[in-house]
This record gives sequence, C-alpha cells and structure tokens, in this order.
Amino acid sequence: MNHKIKFGNWRDILASSIISAGDLAEYFSINPVKVEKVTKLFPMLINPYYLSLIKKKGDPLWKQAVPDEKELENYDYSDDPLHEEAQAPVLNIVHRYPDRVLFLVSSRCAVYCRFCMRKRMIGGPGVTEKRLEDGINYIRQEKKIREILVSGGDPLLLENEQLENILARLHSISHVEVIRIHTRVPSALPQRVTKKLADMLKKYHPVFLNIHVNHHWEITPESKRACAILADAGIPLGSQTVFLKGVNDNAGEIKCLMRGLLSIRVRPYYIHHPDCVKGTGHFRFPVEKGMDIMKNLYGHISGMCIPQYMIDLPGGWGKVPIVPEYVEKRDKENLIVKNYQGVVCKYPNNTRRIE
Ligand SMILES: *Cc1c(COP(=O)(O)O)cnc(C)c1O
Ligand code: SF4
Repeated sequence: MNHKIKFGNWRDILASSIISAGDLAEYFSINPVKVEKVTKLFPMLINPYYLSLIKKKGDPLWKQAVPDEKELENYDYSDDPLHEEAQAPVLNIVHRYPDRVLFLVSSRCAVYCRFCMRKRMIGGPGVTEKRLEDGINYIRQEKKIREILVSGGDPLLLENEQLENILARLHSISHVEVIRIHTRVPSALPQRVTKKLADMLKKYHPVFLNIHVNHHWEITPESKRACAILADAGIPLGSQTVFLKGVNDNAGEIKCLMRGLLSIRVRPYYIHHPDCVKGTGHFRFPVEKGMDIMKNLYGHISGMCIPQYMIDLPGGWGKVPIVPEYVEKRDKENLIVKNYQGVVCKYPNNTRRIE
C-alpha cells in the first residue's frame, strides 16, 4: 500500500472507507463471495488510512480488519459472554462494579475489528438522545458512581458538539469524579484528533483517555501527533491491547509495541486475553502462552511500559489479573523466588525482632 498518501479531513477519510467485498477486491486479490459470506453476519469497515498501514495480505493489520471465513466457525461462544446486557440497568449502561460504569455512547468505529468483543452491536443503529438521557439520569441517581468509562463503538466518532454535550452533563454531576474515554481513534483514524477536540476535552478534566492499539505498525507519525495533542492538553494517556493469535502473540512484538507506546507518552494499561465471543474464536490461544509472554516483559523492559494482563470472567464476574508465577515455595521464614533471569533467590519473610 502507498504510505505517502496525504490524508485530509477525518470525515472524508471515513466516508471513503471500504465496506463491500467489491471495494476490497480493488486493492487485494480476494474472493468476494467468501468475504460477502462473512460480511452478511459481521459488517466490514476499513478506512483508507488504516488500509494504508496494511503491507500485504495476511499481515497483522490485515488480520485485524479483513473479514475471514474463520469467523463463521463454530466455537460454542455467545454474542455476549460477559453478560453486558444482563448487567445493563438502562440500555447503553453496563454497571458491573460498584464505583464505575461503562457508558456506550456510539455504535460507530474507525475500523470494524474482526475480534471485537462487542461484535453484536458494532455498526448497528446509532445511540439516540433518549438513550443518552436515560444513561445520564441513571448515573445522576446512583451516587456511588465515581467514574464513567465513555465507550461504544468509538466515542470519538461523534462530532465535537455531540461529545461535548455528553461530557458536560456527566461533568456537572457532583459525584462523578473522573471521566475515562476508550477509543481506537489515535491508532486507526488519528486525523480525528485535533487541537479543537483536545481543547474541548480539557474543559471536563479530570479526563483520562485509553487507546486501543494492538501492533507497533499502528504507531505512526500521525498517531504520534494525535497523542502529543492529547497529552499536551493534560490528558493522561493509557493503552489497551488485545492478545491476538497471528497478530501480536509473541514477546518480540509486545515489547516493541509497549516501548513504542511509552515513547509517544502512552502508559500501557491493560493487555486483554480475547473473550469467548462468537465469530472471534480463531484469535484465541491458551492463557499459558500469554503468561510466557508476560514473563518476557517483567525485568526485561521498563516497568513503565508493562501493562497488566487481564482475563474477563464469563457471566460478568469481572476482570482478573494474571501474573506469571515467581514464588516457588514459601515457609514461615522465607519465600523462594525466581527472578527475571531464572535465578532462584531467598526473600526473608519474617518480622521477628531480635531480643
Ligand atoms: C472493564 C470494565 C470496567 C473497568 O474496569 P477497570 O479495571 O477499572 O479498568 C468497568 N465496567 C465494565 C463493565 C468493564 O467491562
Ligand atoms: S474500535 Fe473497538 S468497538 Fe470498534 S470494532 Fe474495534 S474493538 Fe470493537
């Protein structure tokens, strides 16, 4: 693909996205019938910027964006294994933890990721003002809610005015202390991030922003510029990555991605094991492999760029961190611990004073 393309306004970029097998066939030799079989169930959207990052058929970015027949394989997975819908007191709010809620404000995205855990709703009908209002009213009533995770779809695909309208209302609720935005825009449509957007967001501080990013090719001069604009507005940036078979399931790639993120002022937050979502089974691999990759990070690269590895329990029981085993043995006196080089060391664990 041509990396020298000049990209203009984000709305124009998005408007010329690839959404049909016919469009895709203009760029790559594919079988349109096979692609259509998939897109009938799970829609496709690849904007020309993200398309320009794909180097060749089957590469890590291709796998994230281009429909694959494997999406039709049966894994006995459900549409909503995390029971988000059962934990929705009103439509578009997921209230799983006591002090924070997920607020889904958009069903549009800059790219439709093939592994999306919300595949069931992506590209579906937009979020109506009525639903937004119901969500905001719910948050206003529930005084224990301190933090709102504004997500979707992608909240940054709303126009500035639409997003501001939501943020201003959330910000005006006295018990809402923190707003956290979850977005793939800086990695998939960085042209959307402008000084004007950042100036709007910073009116509603404390605003945190977590960027969904899965491969170091998604870190480009454009995404670096987008992150700089946001960070300069005082918005702390974090990242969320999904472990994906054939995309980033090796320590070399994860190290490169995490170091790259830190260098553009993004502090890695979570790396998620892929959930058991219908149509995404081919991206999953055993958790033990994820633990091995994490073992290659601790001690080997800066702790500043090591995310927490999380599994999300089916049934809506929440996220749990998975940490590789370092403690080999423990007794009253000592822990026997293996360090990052595999050297076995003793760590004193007694607190007795000498008389
Ligand atoms: C992941 C998630 C959160 C946020 O959890 P953190 O560990 O604070 O990042 C909140 N609500 C729901 C429903 C979630 O899935
Ligand atoms: S941007 Fe996020 S919500 Fe949208 S398709 Fe990708 S993973 Fe799903």
